[in-house]
Amino acid sequence: MTFDYDLFVIGGGSGGVRAARMAAEAGARVALAEEYRMGGTCVIRGCIPKKLMVYASQFSENFMDAPGYGWSISGTPRFDWSAFMANKDREIARLEGLYTQALQTAGVTIFSDRAIFADPHTLFLLNDERKVTAEKILIATGNRPTREMGTTHIIPGGDLCITSNEVFHLETMPKRVLVAGGGYIALEFAHIFHGLGAHVSLVYRGEKPLRGFDDDMRDAVLESMRARGLEVLLGCEFTKVQRRGDQLHAETNHGAVIECDQILLAIGRQPNTDALHVEKAGVELGMKGEVVVDDYSRTSAAHIYAVGDVTNRVQLTPVAIHEAMCFVETAFKNNPTKPDYGHVPSAVFTTPELAVVGMSEEKALGMGHSVDIYKASFRPLLHTLGGRPVRTSMKLVVDAKTGQVLGVHIFGDHAAEIIQAAAVALRLGATKKDFDRTIALHPTAAEELVTMRTKSYSKAPAG
Ligand code: NDP
Repeated sequence: MTFDYDLFVIGGGSGGVRAARMAAEAGARVALAEEYRMGGTCVIRGCIPKKLMVYASQFSENFMDAPGYGWSISGTPRFDWSAFMANKDREIARLEGLYTQALQTAGVTIFSDRAIFADPHTLFLLNDERKVTAEKILIATGNRPTREMGTTHIIPGGDLCITSNEVFHLETMPKRVLVAGGGYIALEFAHIFHGLGAHVSLVYRGEKPLRGFDDDMRDAVLESMRARGLEVLLGCEFTKVQRRGDQLHAETNHGAVIECDQILLAIGRQPNTDALHVEKAGVELGMKGEVVVDDYSRTSAAHIYAVGDVTNRVQLTPVAIHEAMCFVETAFKNNPTKPDYGHVPSAVFTTPELAVVGMSEEKALGMGHSVDIYKASFRPLLHTLGGRPVRTSMKLVVDAKTGQVLGVHIFGDHAAEIIQAAAVALRLGATKKDFDRTIALHPTAAEELVTMRTKSYSKAPAG
């Protein structure tokens, strides 16, 4: 049987674009369908515009702290939301263009269209109203923010709230913002709006945000948020949201009614599989609608693969790109390659940042390691003259028997920049002695990682 293409990629996000480009460069005839904008969540409505908003939000503190360094700022600095949004949109459009160009240069055929399965080797293009066939198919459709708010039932009024899709297109800056959730997106946008001058309340159902992160770091983030003036409501959920005039009113399980301009739901994401008709191709979905894949990103249909957020493995751009490259090795270079999920660094872009690589203390203990814990907390030099009462926290989780560093955790300025290099060390199996032997780079915050000599405590796994 002959096919129109060797590979058809559904979805033009980080994973899909990388797979399409590399497969084409390896000599395959490749097509890619993207129904919205090239670049996917990361470029269009995720990592990149979010980071630009983080940068915008951090100027306010710099202005406030500048007099400590001898600067005088006449008048009150003003933030122009429209000007910023226009500049941000221009940059996103530029990046989108680069993605498209890279695909074209590699010889990938692009369909600005929604592709759905017609049968195991055939896709139907909805706008074009035509079918195309491919020998292999890659599902890289990503995920989207969920609106299914409420632990026990979906609450009324969820459609009045925005998600991280809409937040990048608000025409005016909200002055009072409620953020629901306690994960990456909730905390990042809570800090962004706070930094831009809004009154922010975080509404989180658990006892402290960032479940899954090291407990000490979660405490440090919570303390920092409250010290900065962010309101954090814990054990709290909306029961109802209503519009009254220009305002939204959110009723909570605490019996409060909170009035605000916008409510941002950041309560998780769901895979984009519902309208794909994967059943026509024999592709199995999991409980959350994710595409179920094996260690090589292969679905239950042997010629169909899936990478990135749609598989609900690790929801991070570099991981999707890694999975895409492994897929091309496996499917087009006769070199079966499993994605390696060891030592994936990650960061929550709060102000300051929380960055981590490796295990939390709780995870290490849960996996049977006896641990030695090293902690440092200090006032960063930058803030001595600036006068801001913030502290940086660092923590090393070390295997007590082997001395291997199992986890590095940093909550402080530039933590994400620092953790990338620590990830290399952990990947190479660095021990605490290796850290100690490394000469410090002075004066930096990062030097603390190699100068922590005194053990804070040791712990053995329970039982
Ligand atoms: P997360 O899974 O990180 O957080 C979801 C939050 O919503 C949790 O606090 C969860 O609470 C809460 N929640 C879930 N369901 C409900 C509900 N029904 N009612 C109320 N609260 C609820 O999801 P995000 O959407 O923030 O981010 C998705 C993923 O995207 C992240 O896990 C991350 O992998 C990636 N991401 C990475 C970023 C980065 O690298 N900087 C930035 C943004 C996203 P609970 O803890 O109790 O379950």
